This record gives sequence, structure tokens and C-alpha cells, in this order.
Amino acid sequence: MRDMVERDPEPGGAAAEGGAAEGPTLRDRYRGTLLGLAVGNELGLPVEFLSAAEIRRLHPRGIRDIDPGEMNLPWDDDLAQAVILAEAILKNDTLGHEDLAARLLDWFESNGRGMGAQTRAVLQALKRGMLPSEAAKHVWERHGGTPAGNGAVMRCPPVAMRWPRDTARLYRETEASARVTHHDPRCAWSAFAINLAVAEALNGRVASIAAIGEALDRIEAGPHTLQAVRIVSGRGLERLQLDGTDIGFTLKAMQVGLWCLEHAESFEESLIAVIQAGGDTDTNGAVAGAVLGAIHGAGAIPERWIAGVPRAERLIELADRLLERAEGEAKAG
Ligand SMILES: [Mg+2]
Repeated sequence: MRDMVERDPEPGGAAAEGGAAEGPTLRDRYRGTLLGLAVGNELGLPVEFLSAAEIRRLHPRGIRDIDPGEMNLPWDDDLAQAVILAEAILKNDTLGHEDLAARLLDWFESNGRGMGAQTRAVLQALKRGMLPSEAAKHVWERHGGTPAGNGAVMRCPPVAMRWPRDTARLYRETEASARVTHHDPRCAWSAFAINLAVAEALNGRVASIAAIGEALDRIEAGPHTLQAVRIVSGRGLERLQLDGTDIGFTLKAMQVGLWCLEHAESFEESLIAVIQAGGDTDTNGAVAGAVLGAIHGAGAIPERWIAGVPRAERLIELADRLLERAEGEAKAG
């Protein structure tokens, strides 16, 4: 696997580096985004929904290894759905409700490992014949117009990989990627915040949390979401209370990804810290892993973790194809 994650010698791969000799290549950042999402997802699985105190008791040094049993299992929902988005983008070069719904339904019927309650309710409604344009809204309204689970933000990074330089398009496609299962606007806004962070990292910059807040303000994100973005700056993970009362809430997962922007010194240690903070650890890990992977590149992900990702070659292939597509557009433009 080592050859798949080493620094890219191709000159084109350094386009985003401004000629800098150091740092990951663009290709390495792309691979790092999907592989980072995968290893974060897997690392968090054994302690999903535990509190920080419980995790500390079980793993005083932090979770430092992926469960070897993962190699024989289907991908968990966070990674499986990110792959579904990547495949839909590569096939259609846009994200439409009908196509996404069909792909998610296929996955639901073939394994659906780890699926969240909101996504399950929407896919069941689709299975009963409800229109893809209506199912998510129906489920959301049936529950009082309040559910805003993290099922859209956990899978969003492939959208940033395809449209890293077109913010308006990035928002439109991110919203489409969220709304098929998660009607609440906070789900689309939080996914957009993470996609901005990933896109900027792919462009060779670490976004500031303030800049992401301003971008969300421009699309008229609600005050609750803007506040949730802004309070991350300068805070430690414990202040985010990931194991508090709102585990699984989309804004929590978003805050984890944003926290990584200010704590990105080490891919490995930052990701371990996120999982050690408890709550929806596998999804928090997926979001953090994608952001940190986009910043650091696949070369910064410990080899022993990448060796624990089933079908990692497929993730690398998808990352490379998304890069080609995004670069093709940049050249054509
Ligand atoms: Mg999961």
C-alpha cells in the first residue's frame, strides 16, 4: 500500500502548492481526504456513543489501532455513503435526488451497515414508493420539523473534491447531497461548512473558522448554525461536549471538523483526540479524518491504519478520478 500514498512525483500534482518544495501534493491531499474519512470512521466504531470518561477508562492512551475485524466487514455508513456520492458525481457530474435515492436504496437493501435513524426512515419511505423529492421532507415534518442528524455532513467531502474552486456550485451540489435524506437546512449548511474546509485544504490553504462563518452568512445560514461555527474558534474539544445531550446532531459533527482547522498539527494525534472525546465517535472521526487528510495528505496517515481499510485501492481510484475531473475543469476554464 505504501506506493499508493507516497508523495506524488508528477509536476502537475504540486499545482496547489504555489511551487513550495515541502508539503503534500495535490494528489496526496485528494487521497488523504477519502482515506482520512475511512480511517476516522473505523477508529471510532468500537466506542460509538460512549462518553469521554468511559472511553478514557477503556483506552487510557487513546484508540491507536483499527479493529482488525474491519477488514472482513462492509464499509460503515459514513464511508459507504461518501463512496456513493463520489460514484454519483463521477457518473453524472451533478447530484440529483432521483439518482442519489436509487443509489442509497441499493446500499440499504444490500447491507446498510451503521445507518442512522433519519436516513433509515427516509429510505423506508422511498421503498414504499414515495418520491425522492418528497421523502426526506415527509420524514422531517412527521417528526415536528426538528431532526437534523449528522448523516449528510458525514458523507459530503467528495462534493468538495469535485468542485473545490467554485463556491456557488459547491453549495448547490452540497445542498442536493444533503436534502435527499436530510431536509433540515442545518444539515446542508453544516455539510457546506465542512466542504469549504476540505476545498480550501485541497487548494493548499487551511481555512479560518471566521472565513467559514462569513461564507455561511453569505448563503443566509440561520443564526443557530452561525453561532455554532463561531464558538469553535479558540475552544478545546472538551468545551464542544461531543458526549453531551445532542449526540448525532449535524452541528456537532460540523464543529469537530472545524476544530481540526485550529488543531491540525498531527493527523494521528488530532484524530485520536477527537475519538477520545466521545459521542458519535465514528462519524466525528470520519469528518475529522477527511478535513485532516485534506490538509496533510495520505502520506501523513499512519501506514498501520491504511492497512486496516478494506478496499483502500477503490478509495484511491475514486480520489484520483475526482481530482482528474476537477483539474480538467480548471484547465478548460
Ligand atoms: Mg457510522
